[in-house]
Amino acid sequence: MDIDNSPRLLTVRGIDIKIHITFPLILIWAALQFGLLGGAGWEGALFGVIVIILLFVIVTLHELGHSVAAQHYGVPVRQIVLLPIGGVAQLDHIPETPWQEFVIAIAGPAVNFLLAILLGVLSLLPGFDFVGIDELTLRGGITLPLIYSYIFAYNIFLGVFNLIPAFPMDGGRVLRALLAMRMDHLTATQWAVRVGQALAWVFGLYGFLSGNFFLILIAFFIYMGAGAEGNLVRLRSYLRDITVEQAYSRQVNALRPSDTLHHAVTLTLRTLQSTFPVLQMGRLVGVLPYHVLVQALDDKGPSTSVAEVMVKDVEPARPNEELFDVQQRMRESQLDSLPVMDGDEFLGIITSRDIGEIYRLMAIDPSLVPRQVWRRKEEAPYAAESAG
Ligand SMILES: [Zn+2]
Repeated sequence: MDIDNSPRLLTVRGIDIKIHITFPLILIWAALQFGLLGGAGWEGALFGVIVIILLFVIVTLHELGHSVAAQHYGVPVRQIVLLPIGGVAQLDHIPETPWQEFVIAIAGPAVNFLLAILLGVLSLLPGFDFVGIDELTLRGGITLPLIYSYIFAYNIFLGVFNLIPAFPMDGGRVLRALLAMRMDHLTATQWAVRVGQALAWVFGLYGFLSGNFFLILIAFFIYMGAGAEGNLVRLRSYLRDITVEQAYSRQVNALRPSDTLHHAVTLTLRTLQSTFPVLQMGRLVGVLPYHVLVQALDDKGPSTSVAEVMVKDVEPARPNEELFDVQQRMRESQLDSLPVMDGDEFLGIITSRDIGEIYRLMAIDPSLVPRQVWRRKEEAPYAAESAG
């Protein structure tokens, strides 16, 4: 099931907090683990459910820590999704300014340590005393100190675990950000990936020798996560030097505002083009993305005019704009393509498929990517023109 369609619990600072449809599985697991399997009966089952819900409140606070820090630096946060294995805050992008990445990454674990300190201080009050780790069982029944001690221990665990300096853990980002204060982003990432993968080997080996299957699983997860982050950053650093004009589609079909959606569908089927610019007398007046077309067909029917449903006020891509920036903008505006304009002149469209194709070529051999042949080179530089 698509994460975007998960049911929403609540909204905090404009961020939707959603629970994934598989989330109840962890509640059932907890009830079984603490109740039936632990021999503690219904009381144990109830305890399991209470503790897991509290743990997920903590996970949510951890993700809110990242989110609030991100918003502070102007990074939009799409949503927080709670999965049985933990939470994910979906940030629009991770800033490459080392200090900003550092603050956003550390804000999550910092929330856990603050909560642990707060609980520690509260434990000085009568009736709030801690239970020792070895007593974290239900022998004395469900008591406040027992629940309280679980929450304390979990905060420490979550804070420390996430600070392991390896991607995809927060610690990997913290390490990269610290390194990036002394070197460029790509080199810092490569070092952080090496540290993460070396740690993964240590964990894996230790897990293997001690027969700890869970540790081997974690090691595998860290190793793959580190590699994936390394590849992504390498590709992005290549992509930085590539401009829209090396990637956009020139031969595109356009619609007129007066065309019907039926006409648009026919054109899609005939040409396999999924997004259309809408032109009036050669001037761009809007864009009809595929998902808008499909939705509008469903809501309003095929005889509706394109003008009625097209997306207006789309900021077009410029031929000399860096592909990386355009990709960011597409993601922010949730469009999978943008019209390419040179001043008032419509040139074509750039789609996420075009960008994906460049990624693919880059991964095979960077020399396969079309060279920059911007025809205006001998005329006034483009940047100077658009700045004026
Ligand atoms: Zn985190």
